Amino acid sequence: MVLVYAESPGGQLKKAAFEAITYGKKVADLLGVDCAAITLGTNVADAGQLGKYGASKVYNIGSANLDGFDSQLYTKAIADAAGQLGATTVILSHTSTGKSLCGRLAVRMDAGSVSGASGLPTNDGSFKVTKGVFSGKAVATYEINTENKVISLMGNALKPEDTGAEVGVDALGIEVGASALTTAQSKQSGEMVPLPEAELVVSAGRGLKGPENWGMIEELAGILGATTACSRPVADTGWRPHHEHVGQTGVAIRPNLYIAIAISGAIQHLAGVNSSKVIVVINKDPEAPFFKAADYGVVGDAFEVVPRLIEAFKSST
Ligand SMILES: Cc1cc2nc3c(=O)[nH]c(=O)nc-3n(C[C@H](O)[C@H](O)[C@H](O)COP(=O)(O)OP(=O)(O)OC[C@H]3O[C@@H](n4cnc5c(N)ncnc54)[C@H](O)[C@@H]3O)c2cc1C
Repeated sequence: MVLVYAESPGGQLKKAAFEAITYGKKVADLLGVDCAAITLGTNVADAGQLGKYGASKVYNIGSANLDGFDSQLYTKAIADAAGQLGATTVILSHTSTGKSLCGRLAVRMDAGSVSGASGLPTNDGSFKVTKGVFSGKAVATYEINTENKVISLMGNALKPEDTGAEVGVDALGIEVGASALTTAQSKQSGEMVPLPEAELVVSAGRGLKGPENWGMIEELAGILGATTACSRPVADTGWRPHHEHVGQTGVAIRPNLYIAIAISGAIQHLAGVNSSKVIVVINKDPEAPFFKAADYGVVGDAFEVVPRLIEAFKSST
């Protein structure tokens, strides 16, 4: 069986969970086995809808000890569930949660693992999974030759496919101890879709000269329903919060559309964004390196181009 851990922070299933189930179903078909999903914690809303995306069964470990994230407890819970259900392959989302679980789970299950898979596996005699390497400049193919396998799936690597029907949710009787962690403070970063899951991203750099000029960036993002991001110096100087920093040392993203405004396109920035499906660059310097990575480019002053874009989008809606 393929077991997919469906993340549900605050009891709400994430888009990444639907992607992971869709992927898990395809892996299960490849291996000729069933695909099941597991959720952790109490009050997970609408877990049965995971059936629509390919889970033939949905299980829940409804312990209140799993309501907050604790990597050790989650690893134990998922590994025990895999053991009880006879699942040899576990699929996770490559989110901060999934990243922290992937290695631990692989050790616990004595499994071969690939973290950050970007493509569907092949299984012609040997089980192979692809992932981007060298900051997305190359694709590596990994062979997993252990019976147990743990794979975490990059966000936006495939579209969730709603092809099935809702299923019932079965409680799994697995003992979970108390967490050794207590949460001192928890802060929500806003209403926007988190960057790793965002399909549309509007990002700006040091060329904007100061935090007081971000109003137009937020307005453009608001009109498009996009998430805002920034280059590293912008976050380092405190113009924008650190969670918006994308790149080699920031968040790695792969949205459908990345609009880069007044960002030079340094290699360390590109490392985190060059897997975006479409890149639009707005820069007043025609020699800015970012234009080499762009699908569309506007050579112009951001303070003229962005307000005109906003007007154009407003008048077209
Ligand atoms: C180890 C290491 C890791 C790093 N990790 C990251 C990372 O994760 N993410 C990251 O972003 N950087 C990272 N950096 C920094 C990176 O090398 C660059 O310095 C940084 O990306 C530059 O940010 P920027 O493009 O916003 O600023 P700048 O390099 O100052 O570029 C500003 C751009 O804005 C344009 N511009 C200016 N005014 C306007 C205007 N009015 N209209 C339009 N365009 C205008 C300019 O032509 C220029 O291209 C890292 C560096 C190191 C050494």
